Order: sequence, then structure tokens, then C-alpha cells
Amino acid sequence: MGGKMKAVVKHHQGYGAQLQMVEIPQINEDEVLIKVKATSICGTDVHIYKWDEWSQSRVKPPYIFGHEFSGEVVQKGNKVTNVEIGDSVSAETHIVCGKCQQCLTGRAHICKHTKIIGVDTQGCFAEYVALPSANLWKNPKEMPFDIASIQEPMGNAVHTVLSGEVIGKTVAIIGCGPIGMMAVGVAKAAGAAQVIAIDLNDYRLNLAKEMGATRIINSNKENPLEVVEFLTGGNGVDVVCEMSGHPVAMNHGFKMVTNGGRVSILSLPLRPVEVDVTNNIVFKGITVQGITGRKMFESWQQVSALIHSGQINTRPIITHHFSLEEFEKGFDLMIEGNCGKVVLQP
Ligand code: ZN
Repeated sequence: MGGKMKAVVKHHQGYGAQLQMVEIPQINEDEVLIKVKATSICGTDVHIYKWDEWSQSRVKPPYIFGHEFSGEVVQKGNKVTNVEIGDSVSAETHIVCGKCQQCLTGRAHICKHTKIIGVDTQGCFAEYVALPSANLWKNPKEMPFDIASIQEPMGNAVHTVLSGEVIGKTVAIIGCGPIGMMAVGVAKAAGAAQVIAIDLNDYRLNLAKEMGATRIINSNKENPLEVVEFLTGGNGVDVVCEMSGHPVAMNHGFKMVTNGGRVSILSLPLRPVEVDVTNNIVFKGITVQGITGRKMFESWQQVSALIHSGQINTRPIITHHFSLEEFEKGFDLMIEGNCGKVVLQP
């Protein structure tokens, strides 16, 4: 296609990012060029923006970051058969090898050689993005672009909540950032009897309530262990979805889960976390799961259907829209935490 485009570039090894004019990417025969219509800011992007320890060890500036998006196919390589020009698409952000034991046995989400779009490759905080066609997910024409852009994180929520039984269960969602809010909606749609949302931020807890939480707990104001004990008649919760990454909150999760329950961990604590394995895992006979990415493409199918059918109303989760040029406002909000999902519209 040629020409220049606007892009938010992680331009240096330090805080922040820069809006730059860069070349529109060229595609190869297996790739597709997409005009980005909406792109949402993920916690991972905030790590990269702030240039914390994790991003220092992982990403290599200068490059375009961002990985959650929806857009329109404007050009496709000779070998691409799964999408047409004009299709609305989003993308699975894990680029997998297709050859390792995990990929070959239907578990590509835990591929040994995963590369992440916008972390290890050029991302979508731009007017255009070039991606392997194998990663694309076709959206229904009538799905609004901003909603379509948040399907990727919602896939994490679906993967976490639905990695075990939910119907009739008491579910605690610890950490109510956007994925936690989505997890509340998923647990509710899946028939949970009680959905208890726990966080330190009232703004986010109120959004969790809007998404269907039956009880919200601000751990600064109430002791979550005491409240859960009361709400469950002393039994504890059946399912904990850990989305905070905070060692204290995580330990609350292990303490509040009932014997034989499940703790599914999506969060990424910055440091090793100490847990009482003897008393809180072994003697309780619980299942602990690490959750990474989305099942390809089972989680996508579930997300798309849950949104499309109206089983989950994702509208409350998107609290702010900005132009690409206003990306700094979006990041400031994300850092401060008084927001749900922030969407940039190139
Ligand atoms: Zn693989």
C-alpha cells in the first residue's frame, strides 16, 4: 500500500511513548493489512508505558505497541483465504508455532514458542497493522468496533471463569480491573449463585456491581475473609478467580476457598508469592490453575456468542473513548485506575 501512518511508538527505554509518523507496514503472502478502527489499552500496555522491570526485560524499543483491536481488512496476501477485503476482524494476540507438542495436541494457548503481538512484534496502536491471517477472528458486521476490540481481554475472563464448574457455585473475583469486571459478567451468565467482587477501588467495584456482582467488597473498608465467611455460612467460596496479582489478596483467595474448591490465577504477580501450601492447598484438596491467554479459538467463540446474544452487556466496561493522538490521557487514566476499558480510535 505504501505511505505513512500515525502510530503510538514506544520510542525509548524509559517512561511514556510518542506519536510518530511511520511507514504503513508491508504484508507477505500469509498476512493481512488491517485499518484499525478501535484499539483498547491493556494492563500490559501500561507496564510497557511505565517501563517497569518486566517490560525492561521483555520489549525492545523503538516499536509500535498495543494488541487489543478491531478493524477492517484492506489488503490481503495471495495465500490468505479466511478473510475478505472489508471484513471486520479482531485478532488472537498469541502468535504460536504450530509445531510444538502443545500446538500439535490442541493446546496452542500454551505453545512453547508463543510470541505476543505488540510485545514481541509490531502492535496495533496505529492506523494500520499487518498480521498473520491465522491469528484473525472475524466479527459480526453489526458488532460495534469498540466492543469488538475488547474481546481479547474478555477471552481471558471467559477462559479463567469457565475452567471449571460455575453453575450454582459461589464465585469470588479478586481484582476488578477490566478483566475482573468481565469475569463478573461471565460468572453471572454462567449461572453462579453468588458473585463476590473484591478490590480496593470503589469506581471499579461499582462497575463490577453493574456487571452483576451480588456483593462488592472494598478490602480497605471491610475484611474480605469475614464478609465471605458470613455470605457463605462459614463454608467459603467454591471458585476464586485471582486477577489482582497482589500477594495479600492472593492469600485471601487461598484462605476463602472451600475444601475441594478451585483457584484459577490469571494475574501476574511481580515477585514470587508465599502461600501456605500445606494448609491452604493440600489439606483443603483444592485445584490451583494457571490461566494464560485464550483457548484458540474456543474462548473467542464463547466471547463472541456471549456478546452477540446479549448474555453479557459489555457496554458498562468501556468507560472512555479517545483519539489515537490523545493516548496520553488514556494511559494517565489507566495508571490512576478510575476507569474501565479505555478505547483509542485512530
Ligand atoms: Zn507451539
